[in-house]
Amino acid sequence: MSLITTQLLTKRYPNGVTALSELTVDVEPGVVGLVGANGAGKSTLIKILLGLLPPTSGGVRVLGLDPATDGEQVRARVGYMPEHDCLPPDLVAAEFVTHMARVSGLPRTAARERASEALRHVGLYEERYRQIGGYSTGMKQRVKLAQALVHDPDLLLLDEPTNGLDPAGRDAMLALVMRIGTEFGISVVVCSHLLGEVERICDSLVAIDGGRLLRSDRISAMTTAT
Ligand code: ADP
Ligand code: ADP
Repeated sequence: MSLITTQLLTKRYPNGVTALSELTVDVEPGVVGLVGANGAGKSTLIKILLGLLPPTSGGVRVLGLDPATDGEQVRARVGYMPEHDCLPPDLVAAEFVTHMARVSGLPRTAARERASEALRHVGLYEERYRQIGGYSTGMKQRVKLAQALVHDPDLLLLDEPTNGLDPAGRDAMLALVMRIGTEFGISVVVCSHLLGEVERICDSLVAIDGGRLLRSDRISAMTTAT
């Protein structure tokens, strides 16, 4: 089954900006790079995939579900790491990730256990009782990744996970994303404005520009073609 399909997907914001224009893609499970310059429409697409934003026209399926009508079901099976800092600085990481697990419907004890697990997977287990406000940028990014993982999703949508990191931090974050994808056996969509960065870790690539599809390919197919 396809991981994500879109059919002539168009999104126009009320101010008249067309963020996505007749986008048609069919993406197989695996690690998927979603690349494009700032303003290309990546975040808009992610929000539509999550059912947080309705399309203006066209169709979309995520894990076979329509996020416009089955948003709750989609969000139960998809983990989302937003681009911007959404972390409460006064909470300790364990509390925050437990809270996110509770929000996704887990009972208290399971939520605590899953939060510890998720924080262990991103390498923050030892520091899980420290306040998030005292974390480095890289640690904050990993808390965001942990909260996306906490409800054991089938798909992760990561919006610019390497934002704000130095080159070593970027490499470490991408290695972590790849390891998690493999270990959990789940699919991952990684948004980035840096083609070279995600190309290395992805099975397939979707490139957009000005809301239009530039290319959608398996990486191996692209390598032989160029
Ligand atoms: P990217 O994530 O690739 O940077 P976005 O999806 O954030 O791109 O933005 C695509 C285009 O849509 C940009 O021109 C942006 O300014 C515009 N845009 C994004 N969100 C909104 C909004 N809520 N209202 C109006 N325009 C928006
Ligand atoms: P993102 O790309 O993660 O949406 P941005 O910094 O582009 O982040 O936007 C921050 C917020 O402002 C988002 O909710 C986005 O939808 C909205 N936004 C972005 N561009 C515009 C725009 N041109 N007009 C109105 N809202 C916008």
